Amino acid sequence: MSEFLREELKGRSAYGAPQIDVPVRLNTNENSYPLPPEVAQAVMKAIEEEVTGLNRYPDRDALELRKDLADYLGVTPERVWAANGSNEVQQQLLQAFAGPGRVALGFGPAYSMHPLLALGTATAWVDGGRGAGFELSAEHAVEQVRRHRPAVTFLCSPNNPTGTALPLEVAEAVLEERQGIVVVDEAYAEFRRPGTLSALSLLSGCPQLVVTRTMSKAFAFAGVRLGYMAADPPIVEAVQLVRLPYHLSALTQAAARAAVAHTDALLGTVEAIKRQRDRIVETLRALGLTVADSDANFVLFGRFEDQKLVWRRLLDRGILVRDVGLEGWLRVTAGTPEQTDAFLEAMKELA
Ligand SMILES: *Cc1c(COP(=O)(O)O)cnc(C)c1O
Repeated sequence: MSEFLREELKGRSAYGAPQIDVPVRLNTNENSYPLPPEVAQAVMKAIEEEVTGLNRYPDRDALELRKDLADYLGVTPERVWAANGSNEVQQQLLQAFAGPGRVALGFGPAYSMHPLLALGTATAWVDGGRGAGFELSAEHAVEQVRRHRPAVTFLCSPNNPTGTALPLEVAEAVLEERQGIVVVDEAYAEFRRPGTLSALSLLSGCPQLVVTRTMSKAFAFAGVRLGYMAADPPIVEAVQLVRLPYHLSALTQAAARAAVAHTDALLGTVEAIKRQRDRIVETLRALGLTVADSDANFVLFGRFEDQKLVWRRLLDRGILVRDVGLEGWLRVTAGTPEQTDAFLEAMKELA
């Protein structure tokens, strides 16, 4: 059958962070803490109330949920859109604003799904690259935007897999070019260090800006699949042209609303995770490793002659980290203190 596949998909492999059942799973940047019991109760109750009504389609526009998310972000509901993960939001943005004959620009190493979403929507992908220390300067970003004239530009702050936050001036400089839609992917925004600003602060007055967020990381809700964006209302209207009808199930909407109502409890683990992140950075540096600064819940560390070997040796000790395909580097999620202990103990033996 593969002879019928689109040319550009031939020979490709699907997105595949390994899902291996080991004691210490630190490879996909979820929140390592389970839902607090009171939140779990509230989610179960909310779902229970939906069940007998499941003969009907859900609210197509997820109005109540968008209102709740808008309150959380401090913006008006017309500026918020939600879908099954921020990946789906970004796919819808590419469907609406990019596609055949158009270019999407990113600055790698960054989130590996951005080029894959471009591939799926038949959008040409350009990797603008970044500096040797993974920094992205305004001059470089603007130069790439001028050269490639992208329909959609992806900025990632804090950036995955490096953890580095993007100075707001870079987003501002790119926005000043008035070239297409500018998506700032803030999946890890809640883990920012003090003083790191969100692009949400640029929203009013920037009709081309989209800020995407997710409940998959700090909110400890990855299993539900709920991502969202804040943007000017015309962008929110545009993605509705391409979204599937009833894309967010009634169960998803109910679960997400119950969770957002318990924001404080859900985000209660963020400070503890940040402490483990900072501990990982300090300990690995003390071991003589090179470690990127992190504003997220993960840490990029190296440089190894053969990162695959280190990855394998950690796995032998029951610890799963991520080989993001960056030669010499590995990425580890900051988990609970016990998980972090296990990881750091293993690294002391291996470094
Ligand atoms: C994890 C992650 C996401 C989250 O995707 P969801 O579809 O919301 O789970 C988005 N962007 C980046 C950079 C990520 O690392």
